[in-house]
Amino acid sequence: MPDHDVLIVGAGPVGLLLACLLVQEGLRVAVCERRKEDDDRTRAIGIHRPGLEALEAAGIGDAVRAQGLRLEGGEVRSRRRTLATLTFAADRPVLILPQPRTGALLRARLQSLSAEALILGCDVTGIRQTAEAVHVTADAADGRRELSAAVVVVADGVRSRLRDDLGLGWRPRTGRASYAMVDVIDSAPGARAVLHCEPEGLVESFPLPDGRRRWVVRVSEGRGLEGIEDFCAAIATRTGVDLGLPPDVRPTAFVAAQHTAKRVHRGRIVLLGDAAHEVSPIGGQGMNLGWVDAVRLAERLARSAPARMPDLTAYDRQVRRSASRAQRRSAFYMSMGAPAPATTVRAREVLMRTLGSAPLRGWTAGLLTMRGL
Ligand SMILES: Cc1cc2nc3c(=O)[nH]c(=O)nc-3n(C[C@H](O)[C@H](O)[C@H](O)COP(=O)(O)OP(=O)(O)OC[C@H]3O[C@@H](n4cnc5c(N)ncnc54)[C@H](O)[C@@H]3O)c2cc1C
Repeated sequence: MPDHDVLIVGAGPVGLLLACLLVQEGLRVAVCERRKEDDDRTRAIGIHRPGLEALEAAGIGDAVRAQGLRLEGGEVRSRRRTLATLTFAADRPVLILPQPRTGALLRARLQSLSAEALILGCDVTGIRQTAEAVHVTADAADGRRELSAAVVVVADGVRSRLRDDLGLGWRPRTGRASYAMVDVIDSAPGARAVLHCEPEGLVESFPLPDGRRRWVVRVSEGRGLEGIEDFCAAIATRTGVDLGLPPDVRPTAFVAAQHTAKRVHRGRIVLLGDAAHEVSPIGGQGMNLGWVDAVRLAERLARSAPARMPDLTAYDRQVRRSASRAQRRSAFYMSMGAPAPATTVRAREVLMRTLGSAPLRGWTAGLLTMRGL
């Protein structure tokens, strides 16, 4: 008999959420995480309704609501004019909580459900499956470890080495651009986002809890902004907003790209989260989508594992279909903020005004809050 019912590789937000759901169902779960310390990189901030429902199922909905900032809505601007104003309805809330804090809540929840489930400093280096089990090799603090499980879920992130080893493919999808961002004290704290879709490229800003704000600027591919002075100058030129940030603030550069694995399972091994699909951060859907997949996968595993491996053919299709929808939305959002000539800018201004008009406003807000995913 294998050591565990389910072994999860990677304690990112998606692996951790799946672990909580499975332990709640009484399964014997281990999570191998190669880091020894918490991941304090500031990445995801937006939690949409499907994500919040998943966090509720994992038992931390109230804690997330208590710590998160409720985003009231936002406005879309271009060439110093407001094109659209949206408000998020109470039944489709968007919460803002930086990823390290969501991760900390998930880790604490898992620890409270099972003190031994999370194995830190455990770098999985190999996976081999037989008819009855999956055998995992890992480098851990106490040397090489051999573990086994009825099912292994690979949630090791977008650069998944194991996905490549398993030959599950990684198809590029439309939508790729470079950005720089900073999280800083907000001079006028509020609860609304502002998206500037300017001819020189996107500038967006989102309120964060504790009186902070995230600023994101689109930059030319392969040519980041030199430093905070360039970052502030780009915002001032494009929007007229003078941030005046101190010289020690460092913008973080990131490339928004999109990919999907050709298949998300093989035998007893399943890919999950960013390892299965990369969705551009513009639109804030990647982590939420991983959680939605985790809920669907947990339902299937709780019904069958460890006695029997569930048939994941329909699940596989569903994951790739939702990813494809989310990627189309993100590609559209990215195109609205791409540097563009005057004729294109005028055409997209008409489109954004139309999407923000009274008859379409509710539909647009649904699109932005991951309705149907
Ligand atoms: C700038 C930015 C902003 C974003 N904003 C949003 C947003 O607002 N909303 C949203 O939904 N998404 C957003 N995202 C996407 C979101 O950050 C990711 O979708 C999310 O982190 C994916 O979680 P994950 O658990 O699948 O992978 P990860 O968070 O990458 O976690 C993978 C884990 O696996 C571990 N690991 C890797 N290899 C091994 C191994 N061999 N053995 C053991 N452990 C291993 C890693 O150390 C890591 O802890 C954003 C991304 C970026 C870059």
